[in-house]
Amino acid sequence: MKTVVSKVAVVGSGISGAVCASSLARNGVSVTIFESARGPGGRMSTRREITEDGKELYFDHGAPYFTANHKDVMALVCEWEAKGLVAEWKESTGIFDCVATKFIGIEKEGSSKKYVGIPGMNAMCRAMCHEPGVEAKFGTTVGTLQWLEDKNLWSPKDLDGKTLGHFDAMVASDKNVVSPRVTAVTGRPPPLDMSLVQELAPKLEEVPVLPCFCVMLAFSEPLSSIPVRSFAFKNSTVLSWAFCNSSKPERSSSTSECWVLHSTAEYAKRVISQTGLQKLPSSVLSNVAEELFQEFQRNELNIPRPFFMRAHRWGSAFPAIAVAEDKKCLWDRSKRLAICGDFCVSPNVEGAILSGMGAAANIMAIISSI
Ligand SMILES: Cc1cc2nc3c(=O)[nH]c(=O)nc-3n(C[C@H](O)[C@H](O)[C@H](O)COP(=O)(O)OP(=O)(O)OC[C@H]3O[C@@H](n4cnc5c(N)ncnc54)[C@H](O)[C@@H]3O)c2cc1C
Repeated sequence: MKTVVSKVAVVGSGISGAVCASSLARNGVSVTIFESARGPGGRMSTRREITEDGKELYFDHGAPYFTANHKDVMALVCEWEAKGLVAEWKESTGIFDCVATKFIGIEKEGSSKKYVGIPGMNAMCRAMCHEPGVEAKFGTTVGTLQWLEDKNLWSPKDLDGKTLGHFDAMVASDKNVVSPRVTAVTGRPPPLDMSLVQELAPKLEEVPVLPCFCVMLAFSEPLSSIPVRSFAFKNSTVLSWAFCNSSKPERSSSTSECWVLHSTAEYAKRVISQTGLQKLPSSVLSNVAEELFQEFQRNELNIPRPFFMRAHRWGSAFPAIAVAEDKKCLWDRSKRLAICGDFCVSPNVEGAILSGMGAAANIMAIISSI
């Protein structure tokens, strides 16, 4: 049977799904992205918060920045930079030792450039979701990925079982599409029945992940006792990183300084072992926010109480293994199914971009071989 690939569905608008969608659309393929969340970005999201007195605050509460080394990723980053979607974040990074209670190192010049999205980390995903040839449907969770053998097509369905269309190829850009972990979180089976793609199943049975809590803080004055705007914690079982969101390009505000704290994986695992993975009550998140803030404050950094403080849980912040480092994604040619994401290559934005590119390349290869 002749294979025609003109319509592709991408599940997820994180950076791997968005890069894949954009790359396919630029090659003339019509792409529909389905995204559970209200907006694009996945773990590169930007969170908007409104305080009780109506102040608007923005936090990059997932990846705070990214670096790029691979030439294909650099080419894309240069394109984004030219369009004003990313900029270099020129702040130095430090290390704070919680036992010595002092900064023990400040990064030297010449280390990898740190890039951030403009005006938020999700800027590139947002732009790619709106490129010609890409249609993005937010607030749409794919509940089932059905393969129609007789029609040789994919038929994704939403959580109510309503069909979302028919597609020649399918890209799943989140391991939760296949992971049994999704059942622990939602009580539903994962959307893709792995018996459909038996050769890929062993790679995906259990992708271990590291969790992380982040806490978003807003202060009415700049934290001038801190000499750097981004630093790692040494000798803390609670905190791993602190980032001053307001010091990134195009984010400053005259009335507040926003910071984001990241917990250690060890701390997050401890909380999750007590609470489970289902939706957390707000009292648990408030406790987490308080504990992380107290650790931040405990370190003799002379930090005042913030006027805004909120915690967020990333149950699967970082995959602990890479399942397709060489091939960049998992690919079933017969059913034209690509599974991509950072868990295929490396647990960062660059790995996710390479994986999205890899998924698009596999689909383009079958189109050009027809
Ligand atoms: C706290 C934190 C700090 C980080 N720090 C850094 C850093 O400093 N540098 C760096 O490079 N990287 C960092 N990362 C990692 C980086 O954010 C990720 O590697 C990258 O964003 C992963 O992109 P992705 O497209 O693979 O997955 P995701 O961004 O997770 O995208 C997957 C998308 O699929 C959607 N989805 C899943 N299932 C469905 C479904 N059934 N239906 C519809 N939509 C669905 C999800 O909602 C999500 O939007 C950090 C991540 C976190 C959480």
